Amino acid sequence: MKCWHCNTELIWGGDHDGSVAHEGYDIITNLSCPNCNTTVYVEHIFSGNDEDEPEMWEHYCEEEETEMAVGKGEPCNWCGKKEEDCESCS
Ligand SMILES: [Zn+2]
Ligand SMILES: [Zn+2]
Repeated sequence: MKCWHCNTELIWGGDHDGSVAHEGYDIITNLSCPNCNTTVYVEHIFSGNDEDEPEMWEHYCEEEETEMAVGKGEPCNWCGKKEEDCESCS
């Protein structure tokens, strides 16, 4: 990560328990610039539900001629293959 002001690579200062600073944040990372007087605080909230990310299975799709990710349990829209069909070909 680069300094907002002078584009120098920032020095990682450490991670802190976010609750000490802002209610609701899980972690705060502070980074400082060795070149100018800049400190950057990165506040992060761990999202409780990573289930937002749909589960995917991947295969090399011969129709699209590229690696395709398809939702779990669904056949590929392009080549019609299912995950089971591709277990042997991956
Ligand atoms: Zn700087
Ligand atoms: Zn496919």
